[in-house]
Amino acid sequence: MEQRTEIADLGEFGLIEHLTKNAEIQNASTILGVGDDAAVIDHFGKQTVVTTDLLLEGIHFDLMYTPLKHLGYKAVVVNLSDIYAMNAIPTQITMSIGISNRFSVEALNEFYEGVYFACEKYGVDLIGGDTSSSLKGFVISVTAIGEVAPDQFVKRSTARKGDLICVSGDVGGAYLGLTLMEREKKIYQENPNIQPDLEDESYIVGKLLKPEARKDIIEFFASNQIVPTAMMDVSDGISSEVLHICKQSNLGARVYEEKLPIADASRKAAFKFGLDPTVCALNGGEDYELIFTIAQEDHDKIVLNEEISVIGYITDLEEGVKLLTKGGNQYDLKAQGWNAFNS
Ligand code: ADP
Ligand code: MG
Repeated sequence: MEQRTEIADLGEFGLIEHLTKNAEIQNASTILGVGDDAAVIDHFGKQTVVTTDLLLEGIHFDLMYTPLKHLGYKAVVVNLSDIYAMNAIPTQITMSIGISNRFSVEALNEFYEGVYFACEKYGVDLIGGDTSSSLKGFVISVTAIGEVAPDQFVKRSTARKGDLICVSGDVGGAYLGLTLMEREKKIYQENPNIQPDLEDESYIVGKLLKPEARKDIIEFFASNQIVPTAMMDVSDGISSEVLHICKQSNLGARVYEEKLPIADASRKAAFKFGLDPTVCALNGGEDYELIFTIAQEDHDKIVLNEEISVIGYITDLEEGVKLLTKGGNQYDLKAQGWNAFNS
């Protein structure tokens, strides 16, 4: 039988020591990490970016189909994505957890394996956190800290008329992965003897369970002297994010359906589930791609990167925020999910 160590056997301080003893420092800016009342960071003349996220079991994740290692990885990555979305480089995180006695030390080891894996991959230091018991669900709160050269951070509110709207990677996959997992969960609950077959769906399942933050895009900007005029990460779907940028910049936009980057695997899955891939791309969430606007002069630099798609452009406020369909129709982009523009 698999070993099960009760958290109570270690106690709170024993558990913290156990979970953090192998934390490695990778950044010169980390002056003091885990083990004191607070960590100390010195960004040596750069500006500091901070973001925090709360993840609740049953609201943001379902442990029935989310392996703890993936959950630890994703909890870190979604926060790093917010730092990159500011055109900054993440350097430190803190990790706070609320756990019930349903969890063993071995289960937390798995979760932290994912946490450390993400820290190593993205070059960030785990410098602290908090540990508490929780009555029932697993609670995760991550804070990420990053650095940016003075005044090089990019906000949502600074897009300009005529700017091109760009998206990294592809969108809609995570939503399709979620749809698949929810379906499989239902089938399993009705008949536990049926084993799910996820082999063919590894792309969308990966998009949901093991998303990556677009570090590569921020590095591409830096090495090509591109500073986007506005940027955010795609956590709620393209529609919602374009509306955010337009609202905060006081402008309108035109987005072309045919330009939306959708992976073949996502298209196939959408058709299998009877969903419209465009609706998944616009209104699905959790893709953690970057959406940004650039000056038209930067177009020639952007096309060098195959991971970036131009999906539209910024217009005057009066022109509204519009989707131009493949059939030549025009709809208002709405952030309210399904059937928003079905005709
Ligand atoms: P305090 O009483 O000041 O809250 P703690 O005993 O909770 O201190 O934490 C001791 C040290 O361990 C601190 O550096 C804290 O940031 C760190 N820490 C606590 N829980 C975690 C955790 N789950 N993951 C990483 N670091 C943690
Ligand atoms: Mg504490």
